[in-house]
Amino acid sequence: MDCIFCKILNKEIPSYKIYEDEYTYAFLDIANDVDGHTLVIPKKHCTNTLDADSETLHHVIDTVKLISNHYVNVCGYTGVNILSCNGEDSGQSVFHLHYHIFPRIKNDGKFNFPKPNMGSGKFEEIQNKLKIN
Ligand code: 5GP
Ligand code: ZN
Repeated sequence: MDCIFCKILNKEIPSYKIYEDEYTYAFLDIANDVDGHTLVIPKKHCTNTLDADSETLHHVIDTVKLISNHYVNVCGYTGVNILSCNGEDSGQSVFHLHYHIFPRIKNDGKFNFPKPNMGSGKFEEIQNKLKIN
């Protein structure tokens, strides 16, 4: 399988390791957009959150939490954004499950979620389309 992140796990491609355990690996994203931008991946290949088994997700989110707490409690950051793109149309470009961690400090001006009032405001219609039970 031609997967960049499996190649990173196999050390065919170098990476700046932040953390590793039996099930997960975390390393710096090469985008050079936010200092400390970190990717957390499972060692077991799966495409994204939608096809991952619960055990794999559990391990990945545990590592996301561990690293996020390290960034906030030890490294001087005061918050993190945690983001995962799932599917090409959501912006996923590497099809090996990964969670992005963006370390944040007050007024760093780095990253914002969509602004209020960009949606249709048709909450009842949206709920009817999306609700499960
Ligand atoms: P996505 O767009 O799928 O949510 O995120 C993929 C991320 O992988 C991007 O932020 C991109 O910068 C990062 N990336 C792609 N290739 C490499 C690589 O070879 N090494 C590292 N460290 N990051 C990569
Ligand atoms: Zn892979």
